[in-house]
Parts: sequence; C-alpha cells; structure tokens
Amino acid sequence: MNRIRLLPEQVANQIAAGEVVERPASVVKELVENSLDADSGRITVEIQAGGRSLIRVTDDGWGMSRDDALLCLERHATSKIRRAEDLAAISTMGFRGEALPSIASVSRFILTTRERDGDSPEGTRIVIGGGKIIEVKSAGTAPGTSIEARQLFFNLPARRKFLRTEETESAHIQHYLALAALAYPGVAFTFQKDGRVVWQLPAVKSGPEQGSRHEALHERLRGLYGSEQKLLAVDFSGPLPGWRESEEHSSAGSEPGESGKASASANHASQLRVWGFIGAPGVSRATREDQHVFVNRRPVDNRGLNFALLEGYHTSLMKGRYPVCCLFVEIDPAAVDVNIHPAKREVKFHREWEVRALVAQAVRETLLGFHGMDSASGRTGPAITARATIESEDSPAKAETQNALPHFPAPLQPPEIAPAARAAQPPLRMGFGPVVQGKSGPPQSKPEESTAVVSPAPSQPRFSVPGPAAHSPGASVPGTGPVPLLNVPLRLVGVIGKLYVVLESDRGLVLLDQHAAHERILFEHMLNRLEQGGQAPSQKLLLPETVELSARDSQFIREQLPALARLGVGLSEFGERTFLLDALPPFVKAQSPRLFVLELVDQLKAAGQEVNSLRLGEHMVAKTVCRHAVKANDPLAGRELEALIEDLRHCSMPYTCPHGRPTLIEMNFRELEKKFGRSQ
Ligand code: ADP
Ligand code: MG
Repeated sequence: MNRIRLLPEQVANQIAAGEVVERPASVVKELVENSLDADSGRITVEIQAGGRSLIRVTDDGWGMSRDDALLCLERHATSKIRRAEDLAAISTMGFRGEALPSIASVSRFILTTRERDGDSPEGTRIVIGGGKIIEVKSAGTAPGTSIEARQLFFNLPARRKFLRTEETESAHIQHYLALAALAYPGVAFTFQKDGRVVWQLPAVKSGPEQGSRHEALHERLRGLYGSEQKLLAVDFSGPLPGWRESEEHSSAGSEPGESGKASASANHASQLRVWGFIGAPGVSRATREDQHVFVNRRPVDNRGLNFALLEGYHTSLMKGRYPVCCLFVEIDPAAVDVNIHPAKREVKFHREWEVRALVAQAVRETLLGFHGMDSASGRTGPAITARATIESEDSPAKAETQNALPHFPAPLQPPEIAPAARAAQPPLRMGFGPVVQGKSGPPQSKPEESTAVVSPAPSQPRFSVPGPAAHSPGASVPGTGPVPLLNVPLRLVGVIGKLYVVLESDRGLVLLDQHAAHERILFEHMLNRLEQGGQAPSQKLLLPETVELSARDSQFIREQLPALARLGVGLSEFGERTFLLDALPPFVKAQSPRLFVLELVDQLKAAGQEVNSLRLGEHMVAKTVCRHAVKANDPLAGRELEALIEDLRHCSMPYTCPHGRPTLIEMNFRELEKKFGRSQ
C-alpha cells in the first residue's frame, strides 16, 4: 500500500508559515524587508490590536506587474536569486520566496500594487483568504505596493492562542521597526498603532562618505530615542583574510573547524568595516535591549559578536551590564551565510574568529581613542602618551586649553553644524557630555589664588584622526562626540565622605571616586609592567603565612601561581594542599594575609566563571588583585589627590575602574540649573 502522498500546496504553505511567521512582528519584518528590497523611499506600517487584527505595509517601491503580483504568491517565487550559487553571496534582505505565500496562507490578505516605472495608471489588487485567491482585479492606486494582512492565524486557532498581549506583540513590532529604521536612515518610516502615529521619521539623506553616514545615523537615533545619548563614533576597517588558503590560523587561540567552509570563488582577503556608535565609557544597560548589531544592514543575533562587544569593552563595562550600541558590520556577502535561520535572524561567518577579533578591536580602539591616545597598535595595555601638568590658574597653557575646550578637533568638525547642534542638546543624564555653550554657560567664578588647577597638557591628543593605516581608530563625529572629561581642566574643591573627591570644571561639578580611580591606575601600572616583561612590585612579608585549601581550590590556584607571582603575590606550594604566602604587592594592606588568599581564591573562581574565552589570564588576575588596593577611608591630601588625577589622565581607560564602575561622575551646569529650577 502506498502511504506517501504530496501535501496540498495550502498545507505546505501553512507549514512554511510555521517557521517564517511566528508572530505579528515576523509579518511586519518580512513585509518591510520586501519594501526595502524594492528600493522604497517611504514605508508606512499600520497595525491594529498588536497586529492581530491588522498589519498593513505600504511603500513607494518598484511595485509589481499583474503577472508578478500573481507569481509572488507562489511558493519559491522570488526575483532576488536565480541559481543556487547566488545563495553564497546574498545582498538583498529576502531570497527564499516564502514569505508572501506563507503570510497569505494564515491571514486575510490583500495585495495592491502598481509598477513604479510602468505606463499604466492602473494597478492590481489581489484578495486572498487563508491561502485561496478570492479576487484579482484592476485597481486605481499610487505606484508602489501595499500589503494588508488581517486576522492573523484566523484559520489556525492553536497558533492564535499563543499570541501574547497586544502590548507585547506591538512592542516586538516596534522593536523590529526601530532596527529597520536604523539600518536605513535614507528611507522615511511612518509607524501607526491603532490609528495613532507613533513615529514619523523623515528620510535622512547621506552621501557615501563615512562622516555623512554617521550624521545620518545619528539623526535617526535622535528621531527614535529622542534625547542625546553619550555615544562615540566608531569607524574602523581591517583586513579579513580569505578563508580558503590558510586552514591553520596564525592568531593564538583559534578554534579549529571554523575555517574551510567556503565557496569556490571567495578566496581572497577582503576588508571588514565596522562603523556606527557605541556608548561612552560608563554608559551601559542591564539588558541587551540597546545593543543593536547589523551585518550588511541586517539586524542579527550572533553570539560571537556579542562576545566581541564585551571583549572590546573589557574593563569599561561592569559585570552583568551590556553595551549600548548601534554597530554596522560590513563584510563581503560571500564571507557570511545568512541562510541558516528561517527568519534570517542569525548569520554565520566563515571566519567567525577573525570577525570577532576585528569587531572587538574596533570597539577597543574607539574607547581608547576617546581618551585621546593613539591606539593604532590595538594593544590593551596602558601607555603614557602625554604628560599632564599642574598649573596655576592664569598660565598660558590653561588659557589655551580652555579655548580649545568646546571644540572638537578641527579636521573632524565641519563648521556649519557646530554650536547650534550642541546648544540644542538636552541635559545629559550622566557624565562626559558635550560642552554646552552660550547663555547657559557657567558663571565665571574666580577661584582662590591657592587652588590648584589640574589641567591636561595642551599638546595631548584629543582624538585620533584616521590615518593612512589599514584601520583607523575611533574618531569623533561632529556634534555627536562628547569631549572627554579628563581633557578639560579640573579644580580641586575638597573631599567628602573620605572617598569622593569634589572637583570643578568649567562645565560644572565633577565627583571622583578615589578608590575606583586608584584601582584603575594600579591595574594599568601592573599591566604596563607585565607588558614590558617586568614584574609588578612586591613586598616580602615579615611573617609568611601558610594557608590550607580544599583539594579543588588547590588545583585551581596552582594554575594561577605564575600569574600571581608576576603580579607581586608570592604564593607557593608548601604541601599537598598547603600554600605559603610570603609576599604581597605594596598596595595591598591585608589585615590577615590568610584571609586575603582565601578571598582571592573565591574572587578568581567567580571571575573565571564569568569570563569569556577570549580574555583569560593575567588581566583577570590583575583585576582581582587590584580589588584589594587601598580601600576607601584612606584620606588623601591635596598633593596626593592632584597626583591621583594626573595618574588617571595617563591611563588608557580612565573613566572606569577595572571592573567597569565609573571613576568620575559629572553634573554639568545645565543639569544643576535644572535641579535648582533655574531652567526648564
Ligand atoms: P523573497 O523576498 O524571499 O523574494 P517574498 O515571498 O517575500 O520572497 O516575495 C516574493 C517576491 O515578491 C519578491 O522576490 C519580490 O519580487 C516581490 N515583492 C514582494 N514584496 C514586494 C514589494 N513590496 N514591492 C515590490 N516587489 C515585491
Ligand atoms: Mg521577502
């Protein structure tokens, strides 16, 4: 008896819909992607009841002829690829030819379309109910396409039951639309929810130059998120090796098996470009919600890229916090596989490891560049690039710095958008914001003669200007890059709570966490020493102590002994499970060396669990050891504090402690005025 039979097309479509159409947001995504692929300049999305009752996407794109309109509803009908080889290098959003028939099979569907370049003033209207064509007729309509899906899953009650509340479903839709709008600033987007306009984003035109693309993206970000965010512009490119020629990787720690999957044609090295914005040091979120990553303009979820971001931020991010970013990875389409997920949400890089390393480098260099050091070498270790000076109030250097202060470096600053754009910025939520000039400027108080001014040397480079090198470190974009706080003169006011140093800048109030700053300085010092092949300073204990550990802990700490020794912690094996502690870094003032070791073991174990595979070893150990640096309540006096700030200026990542907590907090005059009710 024959048991196998071909499924009716309608059933096949519904099965495909199970993969492609998970919820209303998937319908919106597929329709908007089609509009984007059709070269639309304006896309309008309307939803009702979270997309359950209505989803309508209207565009002014190419449109379709009557024949095409009928064909696009067939399975595997697409204009985007022709041959199997085309799958190896996809440059459109869609390519499966599955979305429209799938959506049409699970909704009441109306397609209205008219060719943009056609002669006929008439378009075509096709009405479909649950996959069956009900009507095809001519219709008067504007050029472009409008697709309406009503009563999603009306014929699949089980699926309909699984939909969440209207709010949840529309939040998903809104999230996707935000991503599409960020990826395509050149397209005007309108989003209407239950008859109410949520967004009306005008098209932002931009040229091919990077600066202009950054501006367009920034404009979009502002349109979507309103207030100014403290963001740094990323502009990086680096060579991505071809993935055929070298099966074995030269970079340390390569994962085997990542290479070798290649199409025959794609054998050459190509450039990988990373651009967009990332949060300045200290800006983070408790979730990945504001972490937007795109690969060739496609919003993606990729574990490797998530790690790359964390890796790039390294010590600038607190544990459990996530970066805020809108980053675009541009890569040869042949070097990435987008055909691994039904909703095309995931991608796979042929050179996963290298892509990850380059993205991490892009982030790291941007953060380093923020503080103004030249980091083209891409190293994470500290470097002293400029000497800061402590000067008196009226020294010429001070005046120079002050004059230079509100301006971004000249080559990066087209004059026309300068002051106006900044003046329009709302107060910043926290530190390091752009300088606000004009009426709301600070009252020019005359500080006392004796007050020290800690100001950065005028020669200190502010931002690295992209050079002729293969990759360029992060540069600031006009009107968007905040001026780093440590690049402005700071005046010491006093210390409160024996911990917080109060400073004044001509932007407002600055608070410094003495302990966090100290930790950062020690951390970088230590790494600096290690990098130069040296050993961190160490002090012999008068009374060495022995510590007994559990078998597991002994095993664990044994692995860390060489790193600890180089960091100044003299711990050695003294028996099966006994260790002898005979030296400590001078800054560790452990009441009980035994307790210090026990705590260190716990902290290292915890750190080991949170760490990702790219970052192990000395950095982690150093970070942990630095925790034991002089705790709060060690009062520092004026000179010492000035030295502390000066040392901090010399750090490559001065704005966070090695654990990612902020070292400095700023409250500018605008914020103060607002708090005191002097301005709205
Ligand atoms: P895919 O996008 O994978 O090709 P779809 O089922 O989403 O498959 O769409 C099928 C085809 O219908 C597309 O290849 C395209 O030619 C056409 N099409 C769909 N939406 C539009 C639109 N908004 N404007 C113009 N053509 C469209
Ligand atoms: Mg499509």
